[in-house]
Amino acid sequence: MGYLVLSRKYRPQCFEDVVRQTHVTRTLGNAIASGRLAHAILFSGPRGTGKTTIARILAKCVNCASGPTATPCNTCQSCREITSGHAADVFEIDGASNNKVEHVRELRENAAYMPAHSMRKIYIIDEVHMLSDAAFNALLKILEEPPAHVMFMFATTEPNKIPITILSRCQRHDLRRIDINAIIAHMADLCRREGIDISEEGLTLIAREADGSIRDALSLLDQIICGAAGAVSTETVMDILGGIDRQILFDVSAAVFTGQTGKIIDIIDGLYVRGQSMTRCFSEILEHFRNLLLVKMNADPGSLADVPDHELKLMRDQVAGIPLSYLSLILDMLFKEEKHIKPAINPKLALEIAFIRVMQTKPVLSIDELIEKIDRLQQGIVDSVAPPGSSAAHAASAPGETASNLEETPATYGNDCPPETDEQAWQKLIDMLSREQPTLAVCLKEGIISRTQNHQIQVDITANQFNIDNINRPNNHARILQLCGDVFGGDVRVSIHTQVQKTGGNAGPGKDSKALKKEAMTHPLVQSAVKLFNGKIVDVKLL
Ligand SMILES: [Zn+2]
Repeated sequence: MGYLVLSRKYRPQCFEDVVRQTHVTRTLGNAIASGRLAHAILFSGPRGTGKTTIARILAKCVNCASGPTATPCNTCQSCREITSGHAADVFEIDGASNNKVEHVRELRENAAYMPAHSMRKIYIIDEVHMLSDAAFNALLKILEEPPAHVMFMFATTEPNKIPITILSRCQRHDLRRIDINAIIAHMADLCRREGIDISEEGLTLIAREADGSIRDALSLLDQIICGAAGAVSTETVMDILGGIDRQILFDVSAAVFTGQTGKIIDIIDGLYVRGQSMTRCFSEILEHFRNLLLVKMNADPGSLADVPDHELKLMRDQVAGIPLSYLSLILDMLFKEEKHIKPAINPKLALEIAFIRVMQTKPVLSIDELIEKIDRLQQGIVDSVAPPGSSAAHAASAPGETASNLEETPATYGNDCPPETDEQAWQKLIDMLSREQPTLAVCLKEGIISRTQNHQIQVDITANQFNIDNINRPNNHARILQLCGDVFGGDVRVSIHTQVQKTGGNAGPGKDSKALKKEAMTHPLVQSAVKLFNGKIVDVKLL
């Protein structure tokens, strides 16, 4: 007996063996059990996901000597005939080559006769969307009044091309694309049974190339096994598939994140020398960065990033210290470069230029990240200027603002005048906060205790929108209330009311815009930020 290709040798013979698609096989099993199986069934879904395989199993379920049953015996005459592909009462028709009206008329004439020895005559029409309009009309006639002994099963990759009149007479089942981990696991199982030694990387490359199709994956695996003597190395798989080593993709992203332009140019050169298609390499790199972004956005990207589990871990490690905004920027830039690379006369050069452009882009920080960094920096300044707990620490962080604030709230505070008034306690809270989150502490300086009654304190804060937003961030709000508990006592209920300041409200009556701009530019916080990011002040806007 000659070599039997894997997809035929291991074709599932019962619903349990079908890879994924349990949402379809379970529904069919229930329909059989409850006697509600329709006389026309449509299977739609991507190629190689099991449409005709499920149709054949269903044919067995219907015609099995012990049936109808969801678990056909696979030993009776009908089951054996269907397994061998020579069933007397099951007709597999290729819709693409039998798409004319006369083919369907012939089918109708044939369907009028009773089955040879089974319960039903079953017609499985593959690629049914290829039928001509006249053929569909002829098919509709028999679907409207089907003989009791006839059953139709249609398979299609394009259900949108099937007339609604046909669709409405079918029980429809949509098959899903098969995820990469399921394809890898299925191939690994077959290789084990066949005694074939192949690496997980090799299987990953095949599964990726198969793009959700089990049939394609097994056909590629067949091709690779034939081309390799003994154990199948990852290099052999790469040679046959023409894909690039997955490790190279991780090397590219690592070089981008560490700013090694030279390394990327070397990698591109290496791929070029090995005869790799530059456009294909770019597509794979683009997809790799897309997956990295998805992993960064979501700890468990699920089917969105179709990557095997062992790569998911590598990706998580690689993006751990990379800002989301930077990843998004890289992907956006690479996506825009795609249109230059595909039509380029010299795609290698186009690829190099694309990465040189990407490498010239520096990470940008989000507002949250920026505030966190400034806080950390400010923290360093505070700690170096004054010992912890000293009121001087506060003055050092923002001397100008503190002075003006003291004028507004004349209550002075110090360690030598207990018991503290509420205003003093509020100031103490600001001091405590300024050591851990200086930017947030600055926001609270505008706070005034407007009401104290029956263990209840109300703090009113009028500030600009930015500061109000900062106060109202859930984490910040919770921290402020926690500190309130520390300074006012746990039995006091503190409510904070925020209000956005009207334009010019922060300016103070005597200050013109020029003086305010100067004050902003010389503010220690601004100076620190300029120093931290090695930047310059482009403009100052009055809020
Ligand atoms: Zn049987």
